[in-house]
Amino acid sequence: MKPKLNILKSTNRNLEGLLLNENNIELIEALLLKYFQEFMDIEAEKRKGKLDFGPKLSNRELKEVFPSIKADVDDFLGLTNIPTPRFGYHSFFKSGGKINFSLPIISGCTAASFLDVVNQLLSKNAYLFTRSFFSDLFITGVGIASYYHVNKSQNQCYFYPLSNNITLLKDERAELIPAPAHEYTHYIQEYVGWKFPWFKGFNKNKRTCLAEGHAMGVENYLARTYAEREKNPAFLYNSTRYSFYSLASVYYWICNELNIKKRNISLSGIPERPSDHTKGRVLFLINETKYGPQIYSDILKGKFELK
Ligand SMILES: [Zn+2]
Repeated sequence: MKPKLNILKSTNRNLEGLLLNENNIELIEALLLKYFQEFMDIEAEKRKGKLDFGPKLSNRELKEVFPSIKADVDDFLGLTNIPTPRFGYHSFFKSGGKINFSLPIISGCTAASFLDVVNQLLSKNAYLFTRSFFSDLFITGVGIASYYHVNKSQNQCYFYPLSNNITLLKDERAELIPAPAHEYTHYIQEYVGWKFPWFKGFNKNKRTCLAEGHAMGVENYLARTYAEREKNPAFLYNSTRYSFYSLASVYYWICNELNIKKRNISLSGIPERPSDHTKGRVLFLINETKYGPQIYSDILKGKFELK
């Protein structure tokens, strides 16, 4: 499927421009107060030990629950016939249900080149040493960087567009269930042609705000659906907390950038420079409040543009 032009234009910079608008302030303040209250209530319940997050789901239980999460998301986004992606927990040897060979290979290469450097040092042969030192140093550097990357990915859920698989972290039921909805939404975004730049580092046209704001909106919808269906507010704990922090952080940022006097809201520990994720979350929240939850489906079909 060919990506719609408006999606290609939805770069972080363009969407930041939409957020940095004085007209958003009133609505952000109203949303901020609403989510602040919701967050305080749910936090109080948690402190009293009244939130029931349930047990950690086994691999088998994850396989059982994933189809119903997928069905809820497909239904919400008005999609049919979307193939099921590969998914699974992250472990030392497995990532998203796929065998993860990278860690042993990287470790092996790094160890071999490190030993080679030591060997050259001990040989005291200046010519041999110089010839192999820099190539070994390079391989060791690549190995360490890759190991860091693999290790970092162990602490988060993610969708990997190159292999089209979803990797999840084992967690308690109410914390885990919204996460596959988020990652599965990234899979759908890729499927309908939003195309993630697989190497994000040097890409000037990053669309993190768009992709993350959209995925977090769907995640939030699923958390609410489960909370209502099972009459359990624990499902809402993470999404409410995240929405509140995002709104507060973006509010500070807009007020600072546009020189607007902040309302007297006491928010300690909120970063004044929001990430692209949080900007995306707030932009979708504003649009959802104004135009309804249908936007999550319409934007995928090119029928809605963020305003
Ligand atoms: Zn994401």
